[in-house]
Amino acid sequence: MGKPAGITIHVPDVLSRFSGGEEEVLVEAETVGEALDALFAIHTRLRPRVLDEAGRIHPYLLLVVEGEQLDRSAFADHPVVSGDEIDILPAVEGGAPPRDVRFRGFASRTPVAEARAVALSELISRLEVVPLDDAAGRVLAEDFVSDHAVPPFDRSAMDGYAVRAEDTYGASNYDPVSLRLVGESMPGATETPDVGVGEACRIMTGAPMPLGADAVLMAEDAREEDGRVEVEAPVPPAKNVGRMGEDVAVGDLVLRRGRRLRPQDLGLLASLGAGEVTVYERPRVVILVTGNELLAAGSAPRPGCIIDSNTPMLRALVRRDGGVVQKALRLKDDEALIDETLRALEADILIASGGSSVGREDFLPQLIGKLGRLQVHGVAMRPAAPAGIGMIGDMKVFLLPGNPVSCLAAYDILAGPAVRRWGGRPHATGFPYPRRAMTTSRAIASVPGRLDYVRVEVEGDQARPLAAKGAAILSSTTRADGFLLVPEDKEGLEEGSSVEVYLYDEEAGR
Ligand code: AMP
Ligand code: MG
Repeated sequence: MGKPAGITIHVPDVLSRFSGGEEEVLVEAETVGEALDALFAIHTRLRPRVLDEAGRIHPYLLLVVEGEQLDRSAFADHPVVSGDEIDILPAVEGGAPPRDVRFRGFASRTPVAEARAVALSELISRLEVVPLDDAAGRVLAEDFVSDHAVPPFDRSAMDGYAVRAEDTYGASNYDPVSLRLVGESMPGATETPDVGVGEACRIMTGAPMPLGADAVLMAEDAREEDGRVEVEAPVPPAKNVGRMGEDVAVGDLVLRRGRRLRPQDLGLLASLGAGEVTVYERPRVVILVTGNELLAAGSAPRPGCIIDSNTPMLRALVRRDGGVVQKALRLKDDEALIDETLRALEADILIASGGSSVGREDFLPQLIGKLGRLQVHGVAMRPAAPAGIGMIGDMKVFLLPGNPVSCLAAYDILAGPAVRRWGGRPHATGFPYPRRAMTTSRAIASVPGRLDYVRVEVEGDQARPLAAKGAAILSSTTRADGFLLVPEDKEGLEEGSSVEVYLYDEEAGR
């Protein structure tokens, strides 16, 4: 197929709403400057999105002509000939220049909602049966319907006397009613005396109600003398009696599927005769960090090297979300080694960090494509644009950027929901952070078509964006109390905007 006559300009999908949805525009031109002018003549609203007031390419974009990145202020005279392609691309996190055509993948970044849908697709959860004693924190895999009543018999809720309420009417300490004591009912008793008219039975809390009695008189309202009970106060029917099934009736839906079992749930399940319970398995997760510069966590800092901070962070995140870290691997940027390692993996979810972008050393996207399917590469968010999602066999794969802040954001936005969903946790798509309504104390800039993850400090009900925005500044996440999201349809947030802030912990900012 021949190339079209003319210059093809690729408009990134984040800007395509300013080009009437067109992502490819064909123009006639001899220089890049002329080509862009022709583009802006057709789509006038694009100009201010692509060029700043001085006529330079905005810093959040890259201009690439036939695979070569041009300087943002010196591109105009660059010659083009018919058949050439001009790419306007969202800048990759960290501003890495494109090194080869794979970079074109990022020309259309997947919207976050779409990427999240891919993240949550094709998860093949498994169930297991565990003893009740090991079930705390696990996620119930089926509705639990009771086939027993709790309590399984009518029982006394007081120490006192089981009586027929009618017999006590009119009793007072001046004019007690005298009843014949027929025996007693103790907790655990399997046989109890019947209570007839004019009779009472001594009874303890938790003991079965004797046949014939319909109320329990508190011990304080009676005196026992010579085999008789002197009733000094009346008691209404049903008083101080725990009815069979009042706690749980046969057929009650006691706990729903998806419930994260609390200690008290185990108590209730035990009371219903359950000794074990069917729960979701926990996903087996492998963490893989790549980078020639990386030293194992725990190493002494050394010039030229970076200590792997993502593994400890990811381990804790996976654990928080109910996954089991089966192993954590650290590899050099060595294509053959990574290839071999990926082939040998057996896990439910692979979380890789580093090497996820489009640089020369970034082998993971290609390898996932080769060994399986790369479903998403490049997500319309910041930080963490160079994230990817794929499958190798049944193993779900997440490619997270190596920059620690991006790694955290991409985990929380994409991988975390999958770990939680795999393990049957409810609210897989919400963040597992407490949320608070606040007001921004400063304006926050963003661009349309992109979700921004903005770290904030909290003071009272004010959220202040942190000055250090770089994705490499991990300490910004420890200084931050939480984060907010600037949605795709906003160009930013004005000072004083109402926002929801996700707090890294309950106490944040207090
Ligand atoms: P990459 O995503 O491999 O291009 O890495 C981006 C940046 O993150 C580089 O500065 C890396 O040194 C850094 N980085 C990559 N992996 C890690 C890691 N596991 N821990 C800390 N920093 C990392
Ligand atoms: Mg790297």
